[in-house]
Parts: sequence; C-alpha cells; structure tokens
Amino acid sequence: MRAVTEAEIRASFVNASKGEAKRANLPDLDGIEWDGRDYFGWIDPKREQQSYATFVVETEDGDAVRALLLRRGTPPKERRKLLCSWCQDITATDNVTLYVAPRAGTSGRVGNTVGTSICTDFSCSRNARRVPNAMEVQDEAERVAWQELRVAQLRERSRHFLDLISETA
Ligand SMILES: [Zn+2]
Repeated sequence: MRAVTEAEIRASFVNASKGEAKRANLPDLDGIEWDGRDYFGWIDPKREQQSYATFVVETEDGDAVRALLLRRGTPPKERRKLLCSWCQDITATDNVTLYVAPRAGTSGRVGNTVGTSICTDFSCSRNARRVPNAMEVQDEAERVAWQELRVAQLRERSRHFLDLISETA
C-alpha cells in the first residue's frame, strides 16, 4: 500500500465518531515500511483495548483511505488457538486477538458490532508472504503462486470486512 498520513487516517474512519477519530493515538508513521503491506493496523499505544486498521482502496476517482476502529472482544476463558480470519495463517494461531467493530452510522451508534479475529501484531501481510513449508508447496515454481494467492485472499477477506462494517443500511 502507499504511505498514508495522520490527517488522512483521522479523516477516513468509517465507524468512529469525529471525537473518537480525533482521540485515536497513532504510532510514528515516519518509521513505517509501507511496501509489502495490504493494510496497516496498530494497537492504540495509550488505550490497549482499542486498535485500528487502515486501508487504501481503489475508487472511481482514484484511491481512497479507509480506517476502521476495532475494540478488543472478550477473550475466551480457556487459552486456545485461534485462526486469524484475515490471513488465516495456520502458523500464527498463538497470537490472534478477537475484536468487535462497531458498524457504521446509526446501526453502530445503537451498539451493533461485527466480530472478527486478527493477528495481535497485525502481521497478516508478513504472514501471507512467508516462505511455505514442504507440506504447503512441493517445489519452487509453486511457491510464487502460493504467496500471490495468499496475498490476494488476505486483501479480499480484510476488504470484505471493511465493506461489511461500512454498509449503512
Ligand atoms: Zn492475520
């Protein structure tokens, strides 16, 4: 994805009030490597119960930034492995967090949310590009196709969630 600015992120929340968007704490964006990312997610450094994910999406007028507010869900009583619903990497199941995202508009203001599970450190883009093991691909020729497919699937699943949250029916 291309680099995004703090102003772009704050102006692009689909499911947060203006006040929430203003209060969001952002990391230092100068240190971020944007290449090889399908989205940019981070935990609020001052309020760990809140996280955010930012996307650059294609629109008819070029690209547009969209940001999601995510609230940490209730963790299961027993510690168990979870699959990240965005990258679905079977090697990253120890470090996945349950989130609920308020829906956009009136629906969200009356408390409607959608749940999802995402890698705790938002490492989905890295996971999708990891080197496959011998069980996953047989030879080098398959490796490139495997990684491309995983990147495409990550983009599709995470954007599907973004679309679901953004619907204001
Ligand atoms: Zn993931």
